[in-house]
Amino acid sequence: MTTKERAKEKKEVEVVLPTCEICMKEIPSSAALSVECGEYVQYFCGSDCYARWKDKADEANK
Ligand SMILES: [Zn+2]
Repeated sequence: MTTKERAKEKKEVEVVLPTCEICMKEIPSSAALSVECGEYVQYFCGSDCYARWKDKADEANK
């Protein structure tokens, strides 16, 4: 195995899928809904979970 191939394999192993803030499922990045929240980004598996998170966030900001 060449050094280049080894580097590629390492990179693939280190890929971590984002997890949904609400149901904690791993989300394929193509399907993820993301919201920038201050200094970090929160991910949601779909609009249902996003809506639930937003409800909670609105509640917390009252
Ligand atoms: Zn979810």
